[in-house]
Amino acid sequence: MSTRNSPEEPTPLEAILKRMIELDGPIPVDRYMDLCLSHPDAGYYTTRDPFGPAGDFVTAPEISQIFGELIGLWCAQVWTTMGTPRFNLVELGPGRGTLMDDMLRAAGKLPGFTEAASIVLVETSPALRRRQSATLAARADTIQWFDRFDEVPDGPAIVVANEFLDALPVRQFERTEEGWCERMVGAADDGSLKLGLMPSPVPEALLPPHAAGAIPGSIIEISPAVAAVTANVATRLVTSCGAALFIDYGHGRSGIGETLQAVRAHRYADILERPGECDLTAHVDFASVSQTASDRGAAVHGPVTQGDFLDSLGIRTRAEILKAGAPLDRQASIDGDVRRLTAPDEMGEMFKVLALTSSDLPPPPGVA
Ligand code: SAH
Repeated sequence: MSTRNSPEEPTPLEAILKRMIELDGPIPVDRYMDLCLSHPDAGYYTTRDPFGPAGDFVTAPEISQIFGELIGLWCAQVWTTMGTPRFNLVELGPGRGTLMDDMLRAAGKLPGFTEAASIVLVETSPALRRRQSATLAARADTIQWFDRFDEVPDGPAIVVANEFLDALPVRQFERTEEGWCERMVGAADDGSLKLGLMPSPVPEALLPPHAAGAIPGSIIEISPAVAAVTANVATRLVTSCGAALFIDYGHGRSGIGETLQAVRAHRYADILERPGECDLTAHVDFASVSQTASDRGAAVHGPVTQGDFLDSLGIRTRAEILKAGAPLDRQASIDGDVRRLTAPDEMGEMFKVLALTSSDLPPPPGVA
């Protein structure tokens, strides 16, 4: 794990970025985001385990084991409708491996599931791969890791991704009197990083239809990286049978506006602050994900809110079972965890769940 430098010193990545900009000029926001998160030596995920109260943010699987258990049961049910084949159980961006561990424990109750599943983790961070290997130690010998989904071996697949799409880079464009100009990260006279715009606008055809009619000053985001992963997953499902589950914060309708944000130690930061030491994420445009997937021939189910999804999979019943026999303080903390995952003012509404399937499968649970 890297140690944090003093705030006065530039981060290692900041020095790299400044050299890069000095040599080649400003870089688009998606390239900046990609370098911040995944630079091989100085990227945020590459160098650390950011999760938990002592880290920068907490994700649903880290809040409660119930989250992963319910998704494990979801996978078991989908696998049954697939006709119980041998298959790849793929997780994109598995973090600490907690979700996969909880999923396997729950889904493993269904006879044959564990034996049929080849576990595949798509993860670029060496630090997090080590962490995943430790969490999943009982099965570590059989796990295959890849950097990208398109390297995953062919065959039937169930794909799960929690808070993965939000980590993929977005491009930003600002509406000017001349048209939509791409936002770039460059250097100010004092050498600090600053945002600017490409002087000439991009062709309107590059942008989605909802860009039309926006007033000057509006920002629009698009994510070619999200579109590419979605297209690859959808194509795989269509050619080989299977389902995918994407859970993330985002919106069901495409809109104008800026959602790229930086978080460090549970607080919002400026996106140019401490590059490589802040988590950068953008809201997922689920309408665009749905469109890309259906263009590739996949059936699209949802999005529904995370609260509705977990309720329909039986989170309350599962919580009661866990509480029975647990000491009083633990019972209260289970109730608190369920609230955090499902309440509209917590993660329940902001987070959405979208499922894709090959068209031969019935709608999967929880997303109708
Ligand atoms: N799913 C986990 C972690 C979410 S954080 C959880 O819910 O706790 C995002 C995860 O995606 C991290 O594991 C990060 O290293 C990984 N990641 C980010 N960008 C990636 C990319 N381009 N390719 C593969 N993995 C990536």
